[in-house]
Amino acid sequence: MSYPYDFSSDTQTRPSPGMRSAMANAEVGDEQKREDPTVNRLQEMTAELTGKEAALFLPSGTMCNLIAHAIHCRPGDEIILEASTHPVHFEGGGPAVHSRASLRLLDTETGIFTAEQVEAAIRPDDPHFPRTRLVCVENTHNLKGGRVWPLEAVRAVAACARKHGLLLHLDGARLMNAVVASGVSARDYCEPFDSCWIDLSKGLGCPVGGVVAGSKEFIAQAWRYKHLFGGAMRQAGIVAAAGVYALEHNVQRLAEDHAKAKALARGLAGIKGISVDVDAVETNIVVFDIAGTKMPRTEFLNRLMPHGVRFSGLMKPTQLRGVTHLDIPSDGVDKAVAAVRACLG
Ligand SMILES: *Cc1c(COP(=O)(O)O)cnc(C)c1O
Repeated sequence: MSYPYDFSSDTQTRPSPGMRSAMANAEVGDEQKREDPTVNRLQEMTAELTGKEAALFLPSGTMCNLIAHAIHCRPGDEIILEASTHPVHFEGGGPAVHSRASLRLLDTETGIFTAEQVEAAIRPDDPHFPRTRLVCVENTHNLKGGRVWPLEAVRAVAACARKHGLLLHLDGARLMNAVVASGVSARDYCEPFDSCWIDLSKGLGCPVGGVVAGSKEFIAQAWRYKHLFGGAMRQAGIVAAAGVYALEHNVQRLAEDHAKAKALARGLAGIKGISVDVDAVETNIVVFDIAGTKMPRTEFLNRLMPHGVRFSGLMKPTQLRGVTHLDIPSDGVDKAVAAVRACLG
């Protein structure tokens, strides 16, 4: 089954002809010997973009998170992060397995927590407690609907963490969405963090990969873990070329995805039984609830199938997520809204 209007995720993109041609023509070498010029270029571009000393190409965003956690934490250390973030739900218990860290979860409405919440979650120095070590921020925040962290909120959390001697990690799977939506530079967003990363395989439209950035010392350690976790590759320039292409061509166009998400939210808001907070749509993710339609979610999704339209289900059984990306055609939002109307009618 293929979905011409696939709003289930911004991972549902295929490399464009321009990207494929960049991949086909990529200069390559042995990445592990630091001899792949395209991988090196992607890493330099990412270090420059994020304002960090160095960067490292990895096979996935998940590996960026788990390597950062493993470097920053000793077994038994505690990571403070929002309760609906990616490592909590979608990394197979990675923090427990790979860094043997415990997680301290903060509840929020929007994914954006405060310095006061961090302050209250920090453990006193007492052998009963895990040792608080790391604070993680997810920007944009996926499960809360692609919410953008205001720079001031990031800085307040960072100041609190620093005051207590904690480290900071940024899950920037969709950092470039936050950058395009807010006008804040990636460099400014990343400045307070010891480590940060961007995903290439989400809105940037690449088939594979993430790039983690930090100090030279952090990246030297990250190389060690890349080998340890089996993520060291060979002529990886073939895939890194997609990343270089994406950073050159697919960043500013994220604004189109954001406009489409807003239009999708407006369209869905006009349908009886569907509730959606249009103002909360800041980037490429629309969270909506179909409780008012009384239709079970699986039936809703099944009825959309013949229209070629797909959304994804969220944790709450009546909630769905629509994500816009570069493979949503120009008539995609109209088609999706019409299909939803038809399947509820
Ligand atoms: C997708 C995602 C990840 C993991 O990235 P992969 O490249 O899929 O491994 C991590 N964090 C967030 C917020 C994500 O959306």
